Amino acid sequence: MKQQLDQSSKVSMDIFEKISGHEQVVFCNDPSTGLQAIIAIHNTTLGPALGGTRMYPYASLEDALEDVLRLSEGMTNKCAAADIDFGGGKGVIIGDPKKEKSPALFRAYGQFVDSLNGRFYTGTDMGTTMDDFVQAAKETNFINGIPEEFGGGGDSSIPTAEGVLYGLKATNQYLFGDEALAGKTYAIQGLGKVGFKVAQQLLQEGANLVVTDISEEAISEIQEIADSLQGNVTVVASEGIYDADADIFIPCAIGGILNDVTIEKLKVKAVVGSANNQLKEDYHAKALHDKGILYAPDYIVNAGGLIQVADELYGANKARVLLKTKAIYQSILEIYQQSELDAITTLEAANRKCQQRLEEQRSRNNFFKRDKSPKWTFYK
Ligand code: NAD
Repeated sequence: MKQQLDQSSKVSMDIFEKISGHEQVVFCNDPSTGLQAIIAIHNTTLGPALGGTRMYPYASLEDALEDVLRLSEGMTNKCAAADIDFGGGKGVIIGDPKKEKSPALFRAYGQFVDSLNGRFYTGTDMGTTMDDFVQAAKETNFINGIPEEFGGGGDSSIPTAEGVLYGLKATNQYLFGDEALAGKTYAIQGLGKVGFKVAQQLLQEGANLVVTDISEEAISEIQEIADSLQGNVTVVASEGIYDADADIFIPCAIGGILNDVTIEKLKVKAVVGSANNQLKEDYHAKALHDKGILYAPDYIVNAGGLIQVADELYGANKARVLLKTKAIYQSILEIYQQSELDAITTLEAANRKCQQRLEEQRSRNNFFKRDKSPKWTFYK
């Protein structure tokens, strides 16, 4: 068969090479609603795949495939690190979220998700909203991240911000021998759903802030809070955040902000934030390490939202979510210690920890064929 494909179709062979690290890739096509989507399941060693679905006007099918493969692979580590019984997956819908959305399109997508019969759970990501997935959930039970009124866990930025605060405390403990947030200066980039909550809590604890946001509204809101708490907030222009005189940099806006240019400027002792994909390239973890800046891997710090989304599938319990989010503190501490012990970057230490969890699961006897229902995996 392989021989046959090799001769007759170069494209097929290229695709199998491209997805060789993944378990399954599904192309979804529904001309009646205009849905064109790809679902990638990277690894289900720990449980059914879990990951959001992004909608984006990809320039080519190749770009969409590239994105879904990369993002689903990242989810395997993210789930392993968050100590949840799920594997890595992701969906992408090809289209402009501003122009090409309809309830029918998301219902069609829900049917495709349903056809995977519980191998893939999904919800919102860039370009999609909870309302979109309320439509999809009419067709399948394998949806999460929906509003509380529909049985979901609600605003995921609350546990995400909690996780950042635990990451900050662990970092203070490691660097200064005292986890207290008070009395130190934190540089925050982005005062949106996560950054604002972190900033507010830091002010309440008596910390000093240097902040930046491209939204004037976000800046005036934090200034109001600072005034009411008699807190100390310095506002800087966008680029000014990188060379701010602060103890810890907290990126809560966009990705790729730890790069050749910005790392050169940083004066902080650590970087601990919620933004996804903070490192422009993996080698920037080494650049930070070499400069003596402690980097808390983003996917460990920002796992609170994922923990909540996963918990929804067992009945959305806020107390349980916060309890699991608290484990981020210990996780970060262990990663710092391992990095020091083995003279490796914190990113390598984090990735190694995830691989260990996968190996343990692979080597464990599974007496019964693993059911894909999360209830089974959770209570087993
Ligand atoms: P958000 O959109 O609510 O907030 C982002 C904020 O950053 C906005 O106020 C925006 O004006 C500001 N911003 C954008 N570009 C900027 C720039 N160049 N300089 C300064 N400020 C800028 O997003 P959010 O939900 O708070 O998420 C923040 C980050 O954390 C994102 O990278 C997101 O992917 C990541 N994250 C969020 C969650 C969650 O639960 N919300 C979970 C995991 C990861």
